[in-house]
Order: sequence, then C-alpha cells, then structure tokens
Amino acid sequence: MQKLIQGIHEFQNQDFTELKGLFEQLAKGQQPETLFITCSDSRIDPGKLTRSQPGELFIIRNAGNIIPPHGASNGGEAATVEYAVAALGVKHIIVCGHSHCGAMAAVLDPSQTNKLPAVASWLGHAETTRRIIDEHYAKLKGKRQLMAAVEENVLVQLENLRTLPSVASRLVQGDLVLHGWVYKFETGEVFAYDPEAGQFVELAMYQLPQQQAAARKGELRTV
Ligand SMILES: [Zn+2]
Repeated sequence: MQKLIQGIHEFQNQDFTELKGLFEQLAKGQQPETLFITCSDSRIDPGKLTRSQPGELFIIRNAGNIIPPHGASNGGEAATVEYAVAALGVKHIIVCGHSHCGAMAAVLDPSQTNKLPAVASWLGHAETTRRIIDEHYAKLKGKRQLMAAVEENVLVQLENLRTLPSVASRLVQGDLVLHGWVYKFETGEVFAYDPEAGQFVELAMYQLPQQQAAARKGELRTV
C-alpha cells in the first residue's frame, strides 16, 4: 500500500505537472474515440499498451472481458457500452482478450470456481465460449486450448455487442467499427481478428475494417 501512496506523490509531482494542460482541457469534457473492453487481469495496462493519454480510451474491465448480450444481465456493461456509443459517440470498440487468462481457464475447468459462486455465475455469460471449445477444440490441450478459448471468447463478445441496440444502430449507420484483439503480454504481441481471413493476424497485418462498414451502408442504400 505504501508503494501506491508513494506512487501518487510521484504522479502529482512529476507526471501531473507534465500533463497539467491536458487535464485542464479534459475538465471541460471527454471525447474518447475508442471503447476498450478488456479483462481485469493486473498484467494488462491498456494505456501503456496503446500509449494512450488520459481522455483517449473509455474502458470497461471485468473478469474475462465479457459483455452479456442484450437482456441477459442488469450489470453495468450494457449501460457503459450504451453511454460510450450513444452519448460519447465512440468510433471504435475493441474487445481485447489476453494470454493466460484465469477467467477463460475457469470457463474450461468450472471446478476452479466451486467456492466462488459470484465468479461462477458471471462466467455463465461465457457459456457460448465454453460450448464452442467443447465441441470444436476438444483435441487441443493445455495452453493451446486456453488460447483458443481466449480467441473464441473475443469473437463471442463481439457478437454479444452486436445485440445491444445502441451498437446495432450505429453499425447500420456505418460509423462504428468493432475490433477483436488478443494481447500476449509475455511477448508484447497483439493479434487482431481479420474477418476476411477468418483468423487472428499480427496487428501489423491487420486492415481496419472501415471499408466493410461503408460497403454495407452503400448496399442498404441501393435496396
Ligand atoms: Zn483474464
């Protein structure tokens, strides 16, 4: 705890001084371009990973970077997504899973949550992920199966996002883009889901899918 308090002193004396103008500007309001959804895991630092400044990322964190589909939960996730999309007008939503995710390990081995009823209940929202792994990745073992669960879970959450009315509406409008990422923190690598390739690719190879959104918008206009 002492380390945290010391950290605040150093932040106030050093970092804050450097960013004073930015924080004063942000006191007037925020206009983040991106909603970043990731796991609560302590080994992930979205700001450091993306070298973002305060005011740039609107963030949702929970165990397993899970967004329950529309109507499935009264939790804060749907409300926070709605605020980001409909009030703040974010242009991008990133769901970022990560290697060695304890939540996904528990999805694959529910006995880990025998004495954690709230965690078990929450991970019930990842039942789709569990079933996909059970039915399609049963031959994989250990870390490979866990990584498959991390990747499939990101895709499941992207689908869940599409069920939220605020997100669905903006997607039809064509000015919101969803991204699925996996962060391998032990190597610093980030992989992004490429819908064209149907797989996760290195971020450097990833083409922003804005054109797909625009193409769909055009298609609807001609009908
Ligand atoms: Zn995790």
